Amino acid sequence: MTYNTKHFATAVNCIDGRVQLPVIEYLKSNYDVDYVDMITETGPIKIITENVDSSKIERIKRLIDLSIVKHGSKHVAVVGHHDCAGNSVEKETQIEQIEASIHILKQVYEEVEFIGIWVDETFQPHKVYPLKTSVMGL
Ligand SMILES: [Zn+2]
Repeated sequence: MTYNTKHFATAVNCIDGRVQLPVIEYLKSNYDVDYVDMITETGPIKIITENVDSSKIERIKRLIDLSIVKHGSKHVAVVGHHDCAGNSVEKETQIEQIEASIHILKQVYEEVEFIGIWVDETFQPHKVYPLKTSVMGL
């Protein structure tokens, strides 16, 4: 492995410029991660859960594959955020979409850890999957 001294994570994130650095910093702070491979779409959790645009879904999976195989990523974050132009539904619905997206992706990628992240109206990230504490009060 070329990258055996550095650890990569993967994020399936929105294209929104406001959520790139918060997600990278959250993953670097909370996991043993040096770099985050960013896979972006407009509202990827909507794309994955609606399961209509198979070319976009295949692209996301192809890039997750690359990040896992080439960079040895062991953590895949799936992200939703406040005020998403591509996915203008409420927080509760987005959190359901995050969980559902992870359940779909887990069937393909059994050996990585999935992390669901909600980025709130102040652009602070919150872990929503897996939940060890109540989601109340986020
Ligand atoms: Zn968005």
